[in-house]
Amino acid sequence: MIDHTHAATARSWLHAANGHPDFPLQNLPHGVFSPHGATPRGGIAIADKILDLPAALEAGLLDGPAAEAAAQPALNAFLAMGAPARRAIRARVFEILSESASPATRERTQSCLHDAAACTVHLPATIGDYTDFFAGIHHARNGGKLLRPDNPLMPNYKYVPVAYHGRASSVRPSGLAVRRPNGQRKLPDETAPTFGPCRNLDFELEFGTWIGGGNALGEPIPIAEAHTHIAGFCLLNDWSARDIQAWESAPLGPFLAKSFHTTISPWIVTPEALRPFRTPQPPRPEGDPAPLPHLLGAYDQLHGALDIALDVLIHTPVMRARGQAPHRLVASNTQHLYWTFAQMVTHQTSNGCDLRPGDLFGSGTISAPEESGWASLQELTRVGRQGIDLPSGETRRFLEDGDEIIFRARAERAGYASIGFGECRGVIAAAR
Ligand code: CA
Repeated sequence: MIDHTHAATARSWLHAANGHPDFPLQNLPHGVFSPHGATPRGGIAIADKILDLPAALEAGLLDGPAAEAAAQPALNAFLAMGAPARRAIRARVFEILSESASPATRERTQSCLHDAAACTVHLPATIGDYTDFFAGIHHARNGGKLLRPDNPLMPNYKYVPVAYHGRASSVRPSGLAVRRPNGQRKLPDETAPTFGPCRNLDFELEFGTWIGGGNALGEPIPIAEAHTHIAGFCLLNDWSARDIQAWESAPLGPFLAKSFHTTISPWIVTPEALRPFRTPQPPRPEGDPAPLPHLLGAYDQLHGALDIALDVLIHTPVMRARGQAPHRLVASNTQHLYWTFAQMVTHQTSNGCDLRPGDLFGSGTISAPEESGWASLQELTRVGRQGIDLPSGETRRFLEDGDEIIFRARAERAGYASIGFGECRGVIAAAR
């Protein structure tokens, strides 16, 4: 529901929040953070500050089970509570941060804010399971063309939201270095593989979905209810070792080429904050089959997609040394996904598999149809055959040590305050 918390005219007494590119008053994403030297706890991002939820409870600004769950050092129980809990906290935090708050409330709230720059952000929940989907059809087609130029998409693609089980243990929040993995690599002209540092290290621009309330084993989540099991969204970089992937993936799919590290933006942007940016799922191209009935929901088709602009930027050591700004490599949008987030939920549970609060889904690489929106280096460089020229005079085929990759997202719609996700960034560290 659109309500007063979405009003573009709403302003905060915290002036930096008004027009803040990521975290204005209308966003209020949840996360877990540590103020300098202190223990992890739940918080809400507002402009360049973080609202300390245990402190806000202590100060009597918040109360009740939802706020208590959102103040914990892992948000799994809060995610499980669903929309009523999220809406209650959103409404109350909006109230205490808005211009209409009394001077006494402002003063008490002010004492619960920390400078975000002086805090450490953590994963917002204990991730029990991580699933990586493949719902970006343009990425699937670009990748398939390398192997099957005349028939790039596998026959199942338009029927099955294809996925594999990723590795939850190596998901990390934005800002941590990503160590170049070692692994088995074999060039086509080599007779046997060697073990050593990945030569073709890549990023994948993905959108993450946080699962809220789960389901019991054996009880699938129907498509009409699937959206109620989604607790929020983040950005996700599925770092990929292409040479290791090419050698190991026949026939069972990604393993060590993906499991060395996955980076996410640490703030859970709620479905409530994103309500103004919902769109109908774009119609399938003429001639494509309709989803099978269990994946086809009227509400989902009408409101199940999101319109969020996504950018990938690169910042090399040379660019940093010269004071050059990061260079945009990719501009895409979540509307390029072939499957909705709810369809992913229904598909994964359709065999009875149980999802649990705090499970994480990756969407698959969200490439746009046009080349400026191809969302991995494998696509942009045709697996390294075509280098990309950077403004620093450098060329990149794949990532080099010291390169930083930054994802940004921006939801914009006329009549609403635009909101963002914060950054999802990582610097490549040399292999060990
Ligand atoms: Ca992926």
